[in-house]
Amino acid sequence: MISPLKVLTGEMNDLLRGTAQPVQTIDKTIVNLGKKMVETMKKKGGVGLAAPQVGVMKRIIVTTLQSMSYVMINPEILSFSAECSTREEGCLSLPQKFGDVTRSEKITVRYMNIEGEKKEDVLSGLEARIVQHEIDHLNGILFTDRIKKEEKQFFREQPLY
Ligand SMILES: [Zn+2]
Repeated sequence: MISPLKVLTGEMNDLLRGTAQPVQTIDKTIVNLGKKMVETMKKKGGVGLAAPQVGVMKRIIVTTLQSMSYVMINPEILSFSAECSTREEGCLSLPQKFGDVTRSEKITVRYMNIEGEKKEDVLSGLEARIVQHEIDHLNGILFTDRIKKEEKQFFREQPLY
């Protein structure tokens, strides 16, 4: 049983506002971190988690797509569709903060999986949204940065992401 990692919170947290560095080698430490991040995401009821959220400044994200969990290392969005959609988002690092965010409906993402294999996926809808949200974390961007000031945020009891 892996104990979940502590998830950092707060819009002004220095690590959440930092830029994560590329992973050079997928060693045991990275593999273990990926596993722990997946466990933490599941335990907290999230659908995505980025390494800076657990205080590790490396370009690693984990997501749940179609009930499968994925670890994406050094993810990079190669193309964004012009077509966008707007949907409510939340974040494990911003508990009880929610708001509508407009993002590209479709993306092509390149990454390495935990086995070190190069992958390229075309994602759409919620999957594309989660990956865009998580990659933002690697660049110190929080979803609230993408909400216009005049648009209201509202509160719910349970976070979605
Ligand atoms: Zn988040």
